[in-house]
Order: sequence, then C-alpha cells, then structure tokens
Amino acid sequence: MPMLDSFLVDHVKMPAPGVRIAKTMKTPKGDTITVYDLRFAKPNEEIISEKAMHTLEHLFAGFMRDHLKNYDIIDISPMGCRTGFYMSVIGEPKTEEIIKAFKNSMDDILKTDNIPEANVYQCGSCYLHSLNAAKEVAKSILNKKIVEIDNDSLKMDINSIPNVCDVDIKKVKILGENN
Ligand code: ZN
Repeated sequence: MPMLDSFLVDHVKMPAPGVRIAKTMKTPKGDTITVYDLRFAKPNEEIISEKAMHTLEHLFAGFMRDHLKNYDIIDISPMGCRTGFYMSVIGEPKTEEIIKAFKNSMDDILKTDNIPEANVYQCGSCYLHSLNAAKEVAKSILNKKIVEIDNDSLKMDINSIPNVCDVDIKKVKILGENN
C-alpha cells in the first residue's frame, strides 16, 4: 500500500486550530488542485464529538464556499479521526485566505439557527446532529488563533517512529460534548 502524504507529518507536533497545505496535484490538462488540512482539534489530545462533527460538516461546507467565492471548491470532508476536515480546491488560494474564510465560517455558525439538509432525503444520518455542539466547537476555535501549519516543521523519519498508541483516553478533550 502506498504511504499517503498525511501519514508523513508528525501529528504529535501538529498545532490546532490551523491550516496546512496537505498536497497539490496537477490534472492532465495542467490545472492545479490544492488539498488543505483544516485542523480543528489537537491530534490525540482533543476530538470533536460525533454530532458536532456531522453538523459542522453540513454548515462548514456551505459557509466556506460563501467566503471563497473566487475558487471552485471540489469537496470538504470530515477526517475519520474527527480532528478536522480536508478541503480540495481548484487553484492555489493563499493560506491566509483560507484562514480568514475558516474564521468567518465559525462566526457564521454561531449566528445560524438551522442545520441545512438535515432530513431523511438529503442526509444519511439526519438524527445525528447538534447545532449547540457545533456552536461549542466554533466558539472554541474563535477563542484561539488559527495558525498556518508549516509542513517542514512536521517532517519526520517514518522509519524511526515506534508503532505505539499510548494515549490516555480519559485525558482526551471532547469538543462539543455538552450538547
Ligand atoms: Zn449528513
């Protein structure tokens, strides 16, 4: 199995919240596609609750598109580890533009009073939502500074790392758990 790019960066050193260019690709016709890592939670120290993650997905995808109107966004998808989202964009927006859109989207979430497409026709688990939990996560992001994450600072030698997962799960902070 090929080693995916995201497994080459040190998640212990990764700060949050932050924005990182996960990869850039060229299509056969020469267009650039940029994939961003939009990190909400500090890996292995924080995790977004299931409901907050799902509601954020419904809201964030729309708000990011509102704030990045000059670009075609292919997709915004939650990470399986529930610490952030990946966003694929046609073109090469500056990281500062993405940080600004990220922050403004969190402001939008605080102001919203409905969850779009949370019905049996448009969502695969329409019962698994919490607007209050999503707002709790948005607030926690806005209380911090969204930083630019530099890939060079996270570089590691994958041959020298032990295959351990020694996380004390009682210490992992759940973002959006109280609603
Ligand atoms: Zn859904």
